[in-house]
Amino acid sequence: MKVLVINCGSSSLKYQLIDMQGEKVLAKGLVERIGIEGSILTQKVNGEKYIIEQPMNDHKEAIKLVLDALVDNEHGVIKDMSEISAVGHRVVHGGEKYANSVLIDENVMESIKECIKLAPLHNTPNIIGINACKDLMPNTPMVAVFDTAFHQTLPNYAYMYPLPYDLYTKYGIRKYGFHGTSHKYVSKATAEFLNKDIKALKIITCHLGNGASLAAVEGGKSVDTSMGFTPLAGVAMGTRSGDIDPAIVTFLVKELNLTSDEVNNLLNKKSGIYGIYGKSSDMRDIKKAGLKENDERAILALNVFHYKVKQFIGSYAASMNGVDAVVFTGGIGENSPENREGICENMDFLGIKIDKKKNEETIGNDADISAADSKVKVLVIPTNEELMIARDTKDIAAK
Ligand code: ADP
Repeated sequence: MKVLVINCGSSSLKYQLIDMQGEKVLAKGLVERIGIEGSILTQKVNGEKYIIEQPMNDHKEAIKLVLDALVDNEHGVIKDMSEISAVGHRVVHGGEKYANSVLIDENVMESIKECIKLAPLHNTPNIIGINACKDLMPNTPMVAVFDTAFHQTLPNYAYMYPLPYDLYTKYGIRKYGFHGTSHKYVSKATAEFLNKDIKALKIITCHLGNGASLAAVEGGKSVDTSMGFTPLAGVAMGTRSGDIDPAIVTFLVKELNLTSDEVNNLLNKKSGIYGIYGKSSDMRDIKKAGLKENDERAILALNVFHYKVKQFIGSYAASMNGVDAVVFTGGIGENSPENREGICENMDFLGIKIDKKKNEETIGNDADISAADSKVKVLVIPTNEELMIARDTKDIAAK
C-alpha cells in the first residue's frame, strides 16, 4: 500500500510518498512559492533531485504537478496515480473534537473549518490542500492527522487556564498543545527503543526545533505539554517568546502604542532566542557566536533557552510524579550535543545525567546518551511526523 503524505502551508507544500510495506520513502518533495512568482517544485528520489520551475497559481496546480512528478516516466516512482491508495493530510488544529486521526468526509471538513478561528494561518491552507487533492483524486480516501489530537488526553486541570470560565465555553480558550504527531511518534519509539511497554513508562519528549515544545507522556498518553492555546506558549523558541508575564502585552499596547497585530508580530517573529541575540534565530549561528566567539548576548540566549527547557522537564517530572526517560528530538534536539548538555547540566538531583562522550557522538541518530549511573534514561530519537501520518492513514483507510 502506498500512502501520499501532504503538509500544506500558505505558499508551500511538503510531500512524501511512502510504501507502507517496509515503510520506505519512495519520493519526497517540496513545492515553494505557490501563487507567487518563481514557483518551484523539488522532488528527491534516492537523493537525486528533480526540479520543476513553472508558474503555479494555486494549491490545486501545485498538487497536480506533484502527481505529475510522481508518475513522470524518467523521474517518477509510480506508473499511475491509482497506485496511491490513500492520502494523509497534516491538519494543525482539530479543536476538542478530534483525539485521533479521522477519515475525511463532509462533516470532518466542516469541523476543520470551524477550527479556522483557532488557527487561521494553518487550517486555511490545510483545507485548501485537502480540497485540491479531493478534486484531483475523488475516489482516493483522505485522512486528517491533527497536530492537536495527541494532547486531547490532558486532564482538565492541565488544559484549563485560570481565566473567566466563559472564555472557555464561549470561545474555546484552553490549552490545546501542538507537535502532537511528533510527541506521539517519539514516545512510541522510546518504548520500542527501551523494549518496554509504553503503559509502564513516564516519558518527557523535548521537540526542539525552530518551534519547540515538550510533552509529559504517561502510559502512552499526553498529560501535559508546553504549547498552549496557540504555538506561541511554552519554552523560548527561534523567534517566539514562549511563556511571558501576560501583563507585558498590555504594557506594550499602552506604553508603546502597539496594535494587536504589532504585538502579535513582536511575540511571534521578533522574540525568543532571536530577540535576545538580535542577529539570527538559527541555533547554529547562536552556538557559534556564543561558544566560539564569546558573544555575550548569544551566551545569554543559550542560557535562557536551556533554563526554560530545564524548567519544563522539572515541572513535568512533578506532574507525573517521576520520569523514566527524557527524549530529545527536532533539529536542535537531534543534532546539537551542546544544547543537550546545557539543558541536562545540574539535573542530577532528578536522576538525569548524560554521558559526555556518548552525547558528543550522537548527531541525528537514535541513541542512549545517559551516563551509566543516570536513574533516568536520556535518549535522542529523530522524529518522523510524515511516517506517523502515513501509519495512521494506512490504518484508517484500510478499515
Ligand atoms: P522546524 O521547527 O522549522 O521544523 P527543525 O526541527 O528543522 O525546525 O529545527 C530547526 C532548528 O534546528 C534551527 O534552529 C537549526 O539551527 C537547528 N539545528 C539544526 N542542526 C543543528 C546543529 N547541528 N546544532 C544546533 N542547531 C541545529
